[in-house]
Amino acid sequence: MSPLNGPTKPHPNAHFFDLPPLPMDSEGIAQDFRRYYAHTFGRDHDAQAIYYSYKALSITLRDRLMERWKRTRQSYDEAGCKRTYYLSLEFLMGRALSNAMLNLGINSAVEQGLYGMGLALEEIAGNEPDAGLGNGGLGRLAACFLDSCATLQLPVRGYGLRYEYGMFRQLIEGGEQLEEPDHWLRDGNPWELERPEFTQRIPFGGRTETSVDRRGRKTVRWVDTHDVLAVPYDIPVPGYRNETVNTLRLWKSAATDEFDLGEFNAGSYPESVAQKNEAEHITMVLYPNDANECGKELRLRQQFFLASASIKDVLRDWIRLNGNDFSRFAEHNCFQLNDTHPAVSVAELMRQLMDDHDLEWDTAWPIVRQTMAYTNHTLLPEALERWSVRLFRQLLPRILEIIFEINARFLAEVATRWPGDTDRQRRMSLIEEGYDPQVRMAYLAIVGSFSVNGVAALHSELLIEGLFRDFHDIWPKKFNNKTNGVTQRRWLAMCNPGLRELLDETIGTEWVRDLSQLQQLAPSAEDADFRARWHAIKQDNKRRLAEHVAQICRVDFPLDAVFDVQVKRIHEYKRQLLNVLHVIHLYNRIKRGDTRDWTARCVLIGGKAAPGYVMAKQIIKLINNVARAINNDPETAGLLRVAFVPDYRVSLMEVIAPGTDLSEQISTAGKEASGTGNMKFMMNGAVTIGTLDGANIEIRDQVGEENFFLFGMTAAGVESRRHHYDPNGIIAGDPALLEVMSLLESGHFNQFEGGIFDQIILAIRNPHDPWMTAADFRSYIDVQEQAAAAYLDRDRWLRMSILNSARSGHFSSDRTIAEYNQDIWHLDAVPPKA
Ligand SMILES: *Cc1c(COP(=O)(O)O)cnc(C)c1O
Repeated sequence: MSPLNGPTKPHPNAHFFDLPPLPMDSEGIAQDFRRYYAHTFGRDHDAQAIYYSYKALSITLRDRLMERWKRTRQSYDEAGCKRTYYLSLEFLMGRALSNAMLNLGINSAVEQGLYGMGLALEEIAGNEPDAGLGNGGLGRLAACFLDSCATLQLPVRGYGLRYEYGMFRQLIEGGEQLEEPDHWLRDGNPWELERPEFTQRIPFGGRTETSVDRRGRKTVRWVDTHDVLAVPYDIPVPGYRNETVNTLRLWKSAATDEFDLGEFNAGSYPESVAQKNEAEHITMVLYPNDANECGKELRLRQQFFLASASIKDVLRDWIRLNGNDFSRFAEHNCFQLNDTHPAVSVAELMRQLMDDHDLEWDTAWPIVRQTMAYTNHTLLPEALERWSVRLFRQLLPRILEIIFEINARFLAEVATRWPGDTDRQRRMSLIEEGYDPQVRMAYLAIVGSFSVNGVAALHSELLIEGLFRDFHDIWPKKFNNKTNGVTQRRWLAMCNPGLRELLDETIGTEWVRDLSQLQQLAPSAEDADFRARWHAIKQDNKRRLAEHVAQICRVDFPLDAVFDVQVKRIHEYKRQLLNVLHVIHLYNRIKRGDTRDWTARCVLIGGKAAPGYVMAKQIIKLINNVARAINNDPETAGLLRVAFVPDYRVSLMEVIAPGTDLSEQISTAGKEASGTGNMKFMMNGAVTIGTLDGANIEIRDQVGEENFFLFGMTAAGVESRRHHYDPNGIIAGDPALLEVMSLLESGHFNQFEGGIFDQIILAIRNPHDPWMTAADFRSYIDVQEQAAAAYLDRDRWLRMSILNSARSGHFSSDRTIAEYNQDIWHLDAVPPKA
């Protein structure tokens, strides 16, 4: 027995823990910092590593969060309020230190205190590793949502996994991506608080046993399981200057103490100790696939581990506060599922209610269905999760039984509604029949939820017209849209201090809490002095970005050029290839001397490819080879620069977004569910060049068509063209594209690497190219030329830039979360008691 779950509980004096509030002034902060630095970490003035300054400062801040954290928890408990749990396999949090300072409102106090000791805040903050527990947009959305929930004082807790290794670090060598493990916890994580007293036990494997109890009721027991411990680590999530601190609870897997020693492997001690590994492996590493299912057993283990531990945690809390009566559980609790990754929660909540808490099916099922809500993030068929029934039976036999039962009852409902329509039953079944039958996780999530939402207007429409049409026919009211947003605290106030100051001075400070206030900026677009200040700030931010690019990529970005940026995961649907084709086209123009009225341009591309995604990796190689050829050609001097920035991540985006002029959002229409990078750029005054896809459509609606560079086919246009798409005809008929393809095909960019781009060339020329890159080339380069011309007219461009920022209020995640709350969660805001 560990000392942490010993039998007795201490009963100290109730006021023993009532401490006086910690000082929030520079003096008091500096004092704590010194004490931690010298006494806790034992360093002195000539310590070599600045890392200890980072640690001392973060603990100084954490203490201040801790006071507020406790009060927030107590207030929620005392209010007996309804709560929401945001279940996500990914939380892409980035750095915590600057965010904690901003939200505690002690930015300048800290800066002053450190300055007094001869320390630079920026340098210290730069030592924090990113918490990269996510792939891209989906994980970053979860992080923005937590920030907004805390700022709106909503009782929402995030549940996720504490991966030992986060998103891999990307190195570029010889133009190719190399992956390096991200051991982000190596030097400890000052922001987490281990809570071993709330450890849970999670079953895997084994078999089920059915029996009839004394009352004649059928009961099922899941037996002979191999259990794994789930140990929670809590991370504080501060609201913006409002005394609220919410919780992100991350589970780490650990072997049980008795782990099969003796009983299982009496003769082979080392083997049985080695089995502990299997338990500890569950939360070892984040799967680096973005918008792609992977079908690996370990991934299903991760999903169930998260679902089971989180639900147990919630039920334990419920019983602590309400006893064993679940009749009001659904009124007080809601689980929001971030994509299908945690969808097994539907069956796991049923299991715990029935098997652990003795509820009947007919009592438990309505509770599940009134508690679960599901957010869909993609229409791409390759991203739709399906798990083999065989794997499920082996790993989660009891869960599979429950899924079968849910399906049988659901299909009976379908049969009643559409008698004899067996094709519909087959289409809607949670089980896809075939040689290797599969569980359709999205269908499980829909059937088990009271709300299903898409993440932008177009995406939500396409969902009910296509993928989920049959389900929309039965339950039209379940389906709704919640257009994504991003938090302006991190993505404007924190990462763009120059602009923050100008905004505060011009429209006051309320925009940090209410981004719609930015619309007051619009009249200033007509003020020449204001435009000049706006320009100066943008140039400062471009300088900061150019310094990074110079240092990391060894490429020189002149500040008078338009900074044209595409950073996001590398994926064919996002069409980084189309961007490269445009770059090659510009290069051709330079080579043929077609440079009249030229706008100097710096093209920056960044993003990680999934390690197994061959095509995406070849695209990275192409970008790098094209960049090298162009940057090394003296004729391009002052006209065109291209760089691929390695290891795109949250902390890098904090430098990139403020320094961008032109934001590339060029996905094939109908494929990007929403996008959120587009919103970060817009807030920071970048103008978008984009297709009518995802939230681009709403961005254009807000900013006005005259302030947005639109090109390309519509989603409907893409689909209707598929049958007669002829890329080779398009290439032959467009001299510019023909010239681009000829240069690419001549091997100009791979002179000593014969054939390495053949697959890319074939993809562009393939009549079945799902992304139809060639189809949008002409309108893309035409609109790029319009953007370039607009940039030369500085006043015009500055007006567009200001208006983009001024009209970005809709894309705050505060607005998104307010909508989730109004339509789905129905939570009351609960401010902590003084
Ligand atoms: C915002 C963000 C994303 C999402 O970008 P999209 O352009 O919407 O795909 C991905 N990664 C990081 C690090 C981000 O900050």
